[in-house]
Amino acid sequence: MESIKIDIGFIPCFQDPEKLSRLNHLIKVNSDLMLHQVMAGTGCSIDPSFQVLLLLYDLDYADPFIVVYHVSEPNEPIQFRPLLEGFPELPLECPHCDEEITDRTELRYDFLFQLKADNIEMVISTDAE
Ligand SMILES: [Zn+2]
Repeated sequence: MESIKIDIGFIPCFQDPEKLSRLNHLIKVNSDLMLHQVMAGTGCSIDPSFQVLLLLYDLDYADPFIVVYHVSEPNEPIQFRPLLEGFPELPLECPHCDEEITDRTELRYDFLFQLKADNIEMVISTDAE
């Protein structure tokens, strides 16, 4: 299967071939990518990592979600919300600890992008599609 090549040469962090190859590995082995996962997996900071994910969304190769966590259970999401629905309204009942969440500072967010193609390859070139 021919891969869908996406040029990300305009994002400085991924001009590093090692980081580019780590990013491509993540894309290859996962059907969805979380923002923190791209940061940790590539070593790029939040801005370039988010830029790559938003580019996939822009090109319609990914569906974006907000992942909502209660601070008490940082590894157990409360909700996955389509990005366009925005952040949750309060109060919210936490399904894990049954506590009523009334303050935004009790919430943590991450972003998840569900990939819509499994042959995406990030490249640095001028002849990318
Ligand atoms: Zn909770």
